[in-house]
Amino acid sequence: MFSYRHAFHAGSHADVLKHAMLIAMVRHLTQKPAALTVVDTHAGAGLYRLDGDYAGTSGEAADGVVKLFSALAPASPAKAAIKEVAPLLQDYLETIAGFNPGGQLKIYPGSPFIVQALLRQEARDKLKLFELHPSDSKALASNIAQLEAGRQVAVARLDGFEGLKAFLPPPSRRALVLIDPSYEIKSDYQKVSACIQDSLKRFATGTYAIWYPVIARPEAHDLPRRLKTLTTQAGKPWLHATLAIGQAPERNVLGEPDQRQGLTASGMFIINPPHTLKPVLAAALPQLVTVLGRGRGQAHTLESGG
Ligand code: SAM
Repeated sequence: MFSYRHAFHAGSHADVLKHAMLIAMVRHLTQKPAALTVVDTHAGAGLYRLDGDYAGTSGEAADGVVKLFSALAPASPAKAAIKEVAPLLQDYLETIAGFNPGGQLKIYPGSPFIVQALLRQEARDKLKLFELHPSDSKALASNIAQLEAGRQVAVARLDGFEGLKAFLPPPSRRALVLIDPSYEIKSDYQKVSACIQDSLKRFATGTYAIWYPVIARPEAHDLPRRLKTLTTQAGKPWLHATLAIGQAPERNVLGEPDQRQGLTASGMFIINPPHTLKPVLAAALPQLVTVLGRGRGQAHTLESGG
């Protein structure tokens, strides 16, 4: 169960989609004066070194945040094809750059750090983090301690699906819940559906963001359909976005066989999305495909309902 380590995947195209959307949602939800509670049920270690051993092993950031940064740098030829960088991507790039003051991409912030950077002390926003992996939860606790954020951020080494229940509804009745399991075990798909069904009963007006991998597995295929059904039954609006970067070329730039297929597509399903999310995503997704796409199979989808 504990073989998944997010450090291998930090900054991948899936992180780019998830974190760019997360930033847009937190920005919107922190505009109202009332306190916001963000719950991250599967938080990871919080901070990752892009030049570290884990990140170097799979190189997933190379096809994600690193590619995006170099392509959208002012002098890049790819930048010329994109006259104006979509505001959602600009905000994502600036947020990540904020963790890399030297200008070089060395650190990749996970969801806990991205969210914390956008929360407000004065409004008493709160961040509740769950991470079950023994080493990652230790790393997360020690990374968070360095922020000296006090009571704003709480870390628990507990099952996030279970732990979430205690925070719904939050006192201010405003919450964003990120559900981002590794789906290493098949039962995660079913747990996500059960968690949403239960959460909507506890707190129907919360915003729920569910990440999932787009892979050839019946459970992965069924998850967004199941989430649509649950959300529609609850009478709530939803938004569903996917990003596919397509197959890697068979040979790399040196003419050697390229082994790096990995995950080629992922999706985000949002329940009660901010009304501002769809238009900013509609502008950003085609740019993400242009910049991160590798050829055959590259695509995006964006749909909403309710
Ligand atoms: N949300 C993080 C981010 O965006 O930076 C990445 C999270 S990673 C995809 C999933 C994490 O969930 C892993 O670190 C894994 O150890 C942890 N995990 C697995 N099962 C869990 C559970 N039931 N409760 C809490 N954490 C769990």
